[in-house]
Amino acid sequence: MGSDDETCDVCQIHGLDSKFLNGKKSKIRKNQLHKVLVGKVATVKLCHIHDIELFNLGEKRFVMEHLDLLRSLIGKAD
Ligand SMILES: [Zn+2]
Repeated sequence: MGSDDETCDVCQIHGLDSKFLNGKKSKIRKNQLHKVLVGKVATVKLCHIHDIELFNLGEKRFVMEHLDLLRSLIGKAD
């Protein structure tokens, strides 16, 4: 764990080049989603662009936009 801390979960799922998308703002932030999994907190790592997208859309709409992310979160949650 920890070696891929610089990778955005959404970019990774969509095969996007996070560094290209974000340029110098390549900082990855960990976000906790409270409304996505029932009774559990899901942690996602997001680049600057997807961090803003999460902020703008809200948790539920964000995961509906990125269904593969949602599936991977459900997969991780046993
Ligand atoms: Zn991203």
